[in-house]
Parts: sequence; C-alpha cells; structure tokens
Amino acid sequence: MAFEPTVKELFEGIRAGNKIFLGRAITLIESAKKTDHDRAIELLSLCHPLSGNSLRIAITGSPGSGKSTLIESLGNLLIARGHKIAVLAVDPSSKESGGSILGDKTRMETLTQASNAFIRPSPNNLELGGIKSNTRESIILCEAAGFDLVILETVGVGQSEIEVSHMSDLVLLLLTPAGGDDLQGIKKGIMETADIIAINKADGALMKEAQNTRYSVQQSLKHGNRRDQVEIIQISALQKTNLEHLADSILIQFELLKETGMLSKHRAEQNDIWFDSALKQAVINKIYDDENFKRQLEVIKSEKDKQQIPAPILVQQFMAKWKF
Ligand code: GDP
Repeated sequence: MAFEPTVKELFEGIRAGNKIFLGRAITLIESAKKTDHDRAIELLSLCHPLSGNSLRIAITGSPGSGKSTLIESLGNLLIARGHKIAVLAVDPSSKESGGSILGDKTRMETLTQASNAFIRPSPNNLELGGIKSNTRESIILCEAAGFDLVILETVGVGQSEIEVSHMSDLVLLLLTPAGGDDLQGIKKGIMETADIIAINKADGALMKEAQNTRYSVQQSLKHGNRRDQVEIIQISALQKTNLEHLADSILIQFELLKETGMLSKHRAEQNDIWFDSALKQAVINKIYDDENFKRQLEVIKSEKDKQQIPAPILVQQFMAKWKF
C-alpha cells in the first residue's frame, strides 16, 4: 500500500475504531526498522491514555485443541452480548494453516466478518521463545480502538503461555478428552498459570472421555502446588455447549479481579516486567549499534572462525576484553 498515514492520522483512525488503521498501526509497532521506532513510540503515547479498559484473556492449548473454533463461537456469543473483541495470535504455531492471513480468515470465518471483531494473524518475525515482544503494545492499540475484550491466542506447549500470562488478566487453558496418560504431557506450568480450564470436545462419543479427563485434571491439580480453586468446565466449541457458562465465568472472574484490587496489582507487576524487558531490548540494541562494539565483534568472530573454541569460552574472552 503506497498510502503512508502519519502518526496523527493513525491515531485518529484508531480512535474512530477503524480496523484498517488499527492493522496498519500494529504493523508499525511490530516494525524492526529503526526509522519506525520513534513513530511507534509517539503513537503509543497518544493511545496509552485511552487504554487499560479491556479484559485481556489468554487462550492457550495444544494445536488442534479447538482454540480457533472456540474463539469463533465464544467471540460471536460475546459480541451478541455487546462486546467488541480483538484477537491477537501471539505465536507462530497458533496458526498451523501456513502463516497467511487467509489461513486465519478460514479459521474464524464469521468472526472475521463481524464488525465488532478485529483479528490479527500471527506475526512472522518472532523473538526467541516464540512471542512477539510487541504484543503488549498491540493490546494498548486495540484498547484505544475501543475493543473491550482482547484475546491472546497462544499454543500451550512451551514457554509462551508463561510469557502470555505476564500480559493477560486471565488465562484460559483448553484441553481435550485425552485420558490420564496424555495429561502427563501437559506441562505443570500451564496448569498452574490457568485461571479457567475448559475441557473442549465434550460432545458425542468423546463425552465420557471428557469426564475422565476432568477427573484427571482435578487429581493433578490436587497434587500440584496451587492453593486457589481453578474452575474446570466441560464445553463443546463446535456444538456451542456450555459456552454461556464459560463466558459468565470469565466475566465474573474479571469483575472479581477488579473489585478486589487484584487487577491493578497484577497490571502494576506486569508493567514492571514490561519495563525490564523493554529496557533489556533497548540496551541490547544500543550496544549492537555501537561502532566500537561492532569492531570488536568482528575481531572475535574472525578468531572464532580460525580456532574451534567453544562459544562460551569465546564469549568470556570477548567480555574480558570488551570496552563500551
Ligand atoms: P486449534 O488448532 O487449537 O485452533 O484447533 P481448531 O479450532 O482448528 O480445531 C481443531 C479440530 O478440532 C477441528 O477439526 C475442529 O473442527 C475440531 N473441534 C474443535 N472444537 C471441537 C468440539 O468442541 N468438538 C469436536 N468434536 N471437535 C472440535
């Protein structure tokens, strides 16, 4: 697109709830180009006062557990209740369809077409660890655009769901009827960060197995080190069973967080984590941009190529010599 809106135009577009402008703004935020950085910060400063009012929920689960089916049905249900929903896919494999926008469109067909929904496909260039470091900024932009429910879709197979819990108010873990043995494969960390566990595909022939899974989850939680009660709900995203109940639970838990002051406490803690990671990134960028650093790096790299020294030893030698 040749049209390059100014920061002010982007902001006005966002404030008006224009999804095209919101999409462009997120692209700007995600841009690794140095020239875009100042514009991104300016836009963030404008949007920030309008943000903070949404329920930020992470939906996590293995590939195939039914995340997109659930987001589609739950999203439509919540839109019918008057909500405006933004969906941010935050890691690459949360979209197995190959990385195209079309993939997401076919995954959440009706939601994509709903005027009160905004769907942002997974970013392509990812940080190590899988999560795009700009997800928090994207949340702020979505909130400034008037979305009161931001869904962060992520694959619950590794580090990403822990990271995502640092940017969401609630974590919904999606499991499938799998029997006790398969539950072992689910990392304890995920169970312990989840606020609500939904056992999906509790329908048809899988109904009985869903009940067994629920029991195994309960047992597993009992032996874990959680002190609070985790709600476990059996649902069918496909047949839309028990989704009203799930929606109520999510909204009730959010109200509770607000009433008890936990929400602002959590968000303040998350802000500290955000500060640390943003600072770390800025420091790294500054160092890597430093001419002196670049020169010394070249030297050590050429030595590395000459000798077969293990990386940590080389790095230590480099650090001992390195002057900023
Ligand atoms: P994702 O990879 O977690 O986003 O999973 P999808 O939403 O793409 O679903 C994976 C497969 O499970 C698809 O074939 C869905 O039709 C199916 N599926 C999703 N939800 C349900 C459900 O509630 N019941 C049944 N029987 N199948 C479901």
